[in-house]
Amino acid sequence: METPRSVNDFRRIILFPLPFQGHINPMLQLANILHARGFNITIIHAEYNSPNPSNYPHFTFKPIKDRFLEIAHQLPTNRNGAYFVEYLNKSCVDPFRDCLAGMLAEPGEEKVACLIADGGFYFTQAVADDLKLPRIVHRTSSLGCGLAYDALPFNSIKDWFYLTKEDSDYEASVPEYPLLRIKDIIKMTNYPQSMGDFLTNMLNQMKASSGIIWNTFKELEESALETISQDFPVPSFTLGPFHKYFPASSSSLIEQDRTVLSWLDKQPPKSVIYVSFGSVAHITESEFQEVAHGLDNIGLPFLWVVRPGIVIGSEWLEALPENFLERMGDRGRIVKWSPQQEVLGHPATGCFWTHSGWNSTMESICEEVPMICSPCFGDQPINARHVSEVWKIGVLLEDGFESVGIEKAIKRVMMDKEGEEMRERISCLKEKLNLSLEEGGSSSQSLNNLVDYISSF
Ligand code: UDP
Repeated sequence: METPRSVNDFRRIILFPLPFQGHINPMLQLANILHARGFNITIIHAEYNSPNPSNYPHFTFKPIKDRFLEIAHQLPTNRNGAYFVEYLNKSCVDPFRDCLAGMLAEPGEEKVACLIADGGFYFTQAVADDLKLPRIVHRTSSLGCGLAYDALPFNSIKDWFYLTKEDSDYEASVPEYPLLRIKDIIKMTNYPQSMGDFLTNMLNQMKASSGIIWNTFKELEESALETISQDFPVPSFTLGPFHKYFPASSSSLIEQDRTVLSWLDKQPPKSVIYVSFGSVAHITESEFQEVAHGLDNIGLPFLWVVRPGIVIGSEWLEALPENFLERMGDRGRIVKWSPQQEVLGHPATGCFWTHSGWNSTMESICEEVPMICSPCFGDQPINARHVSEVWKIGVLLEDGFESVGIEKAIKRVMMDKEGEEMRERISCLKEKLNLSLEEGGSSSQSLNNLVDYISSF
């Protein structure tokens, strides 16, 4: 019989998220999950996009100097995300090592069990090895993405980058990962050299870690889970979706406009198109205008999150077509940031037009909301292919932001029989997901395994 843990067994876990919204949210959710299982929590974090410690009084926060300000002025124009993460992987080494070594040297009875670091902070493996501390990776993407990244031939990627729509290879499948087309890879790797270097470093240090935590659940990615241990020969823990363990959390870096909830209350069930492209993606002025035309022409209510700075060259809404807001009246709401989980859970929300970030995808599945996918970069094209072709719970805008394609996609999801079938499939997935979180379910079991594993260090 299992011996119950006593208070004296409680130990500290140190977590280190990458300083972006889509990485901070799941890391803090994971921290809450582990805290509820008796671990004390310290979050080491960069100064850039610092989480708000007052929302988490039960955690200890330790900021480190990231020197991000030295390159921050390039952010609005440089769309090369990998460049920033590579920069952080260099600028954070010394302050992170000093902070971690200082904590390990602190006198006291409490032992540090392990470091859980975002996979993107690959430099932390060498630091943890030096300090003889086990490092578990928190990977904020799907298992499918892990397998796809590992399979990609980075040498060919550099050649593909120069292909255009007119080239015959543009639409072809990628031999090493046939679900993806070459045009998806071009989208994923805006800057193939730095993306290739970054992914190679990240994957190597994931394989050198003591284990990987994925924010997914077994029943969603059953076949990927079967093959993951061949590619990543360390234990994998699939205990997602993290955000379902607790009520909607508050790690937003931008203030949420909660007035949208009372606006949603006034809309008919499943009538509203919710549009949001996440916290990092950027779109051009003409893409932004195509979104507006599509929403205008389709005639349905919509809630559109336009994050300040998302439109390249605009502060906020300057690029909207003339008189757009007046014409839409109360049919449409545009806000800077929404309480997304609650919006997706609202009965009025009928579909989610998303950039296919992994958190957004999981949140949509949890609330049974079918998707229209406009992936921009990174893992988003992989998620979008899974949504549209594997799980068949949404459609992908193959030709990007173009108002005729947009209207057709909205019609397919919101009005056609096809949309009904998507709803049935997504409800089925949601049922499986709920079961996975119950005692004895796959995610719940995986969490138990993780707790036992960490306790064994
Ligand atoms: N989000 C939010 N309000 C918004 C838009 C997004 O709270 O108006 C949250 C969303 O719920 C998700 C995260 O921001 O948890 C975005 O993560 P995702 O992986 O989807 O995309 P990323 O921002 O990393 O590209």
